[in-house]
Amino acid sequence: MRWHLPRTAAAGLIAAAGLAVVVASDDGARLSQRWRQHDVHRPHPPVVEPAESPIASRPPKDAIILFDGTNLDAWKARDGGGPARWNIVDGVLQTVPGAGAIETRERFGDVQLHVEWCAPDPPHGVGQDRGNSGVFLMGEFELQVLDSYRADTYADGQAGAIYGQYPPLFNASRPPGQWQTYDVAFRRPRFDATGRLIEPARITLFHNGILVQNNEAPFGPTAWLRWFPYDPHQARGGPIALQDHDHPVRYRNIWLRKLPDRPEPSAADVERPRTVALTHERLDRYAGKYRPANRPDSPPWKIVREDDHLALWLPARPFGIPMEPISETEFDMRQTDGRFTFRIDAGGKITGIHFRIADSERELSRVDP
Ligand code: MG
Repeated sequence: MRWHLPRTAAAGLIAAAGLAVVVASDDGARLSQRWRQHDVHRPHPPVVEPAESPIASRPPKDAIILFDGTNLDAWKARDGGGPARWNIVDGVLQTVPGAGAIETRERFGDVQLHVEWCAPDPPHGVGQDRGNSGVFLMGEFELQVLDSYRADTYADGQAGAIYGQYPPLFNASRPPGQWQTYDVAFRRPRFDATGRLIEPARITLFHNGILVQNNEAPFGPTAWLRWFPYDPHQARGGPIALQDHDHPVRYRNIWLRKLPDRPEPSAADVERPRTVALTHERLDRYAGKYRPANRPDSPPWKIVREDDHLALWLPARPFGIPMEPISETEFDMRQTDGRFTFRIDAGGKITGIHFRIADSERELSRVDP
């Protein structure tokens, strides 16, 4: 089933241009180095035996519940947007063959997703015609759902595959009729303001607790029989969709958590105190050994002048940490929120250091005055 065509030729060209920069190129030479879709010579992953099927797990308190056995309020038909026409039987969501795919009403970008699914028992059919469904991230990237228990198909189409692109690292399938889990970490693709792809999507998948996709980067959306590049519309995120592939696959306990963007530091956050120039003579006065005041038996910390600056050498660390003077007695760390303030007694003798590192404070005593 092909769900994808680029929205517009222009958008496709923009995405293709972006892909050329970041994900290497979409040119013929590069494409020829990939496995072709569904290559029967592609090695199959080793079979592993997962733990026994657990009872349905409970979602975290802050999860967005997509299906808890009671209703399909979060879902709609993928075609036309009408009500989702799948059945709920005894608290379990059942694909209605021919009813079409369903998708969430809400769009999502970066998510942690949990899905439980169950292939038909007794099994029926072979290859791709055996318990086929799929979980589409952003409506674009299919995690294949298939009865792959002691059942053969091409490697990039079995359960746990990023369909047509990446076979799972292992075949972690449970027998048909047993509940199986997908736990997904998904990071949506990133585009710059011109629509150029700057970061492909990322997918990590645990199948029945076994890692089967390790931070893989799809080279485009799932599409059958050919490849398409990323498209800038994907910056908006997309729905979670479940595929109807004419097989009565069942689902339960579907939830996700939206993942926040990491905050970038503001201009104020990256502002640093102005550094001052200290003479070598001044720096040399601070150079020496210091020891944590509360750990008199511990090895000393060394402060060394390296050309025109001081560096802190900690015990058992093979590198020095530059210290930036911001006054006659205070030094900041360039890459860490920390500050050294040298203590000087009334006679001008350097007796130790007050060291603040993040939210803790330490006192160091001079060892070799
Ligand atoms: Mg499928």
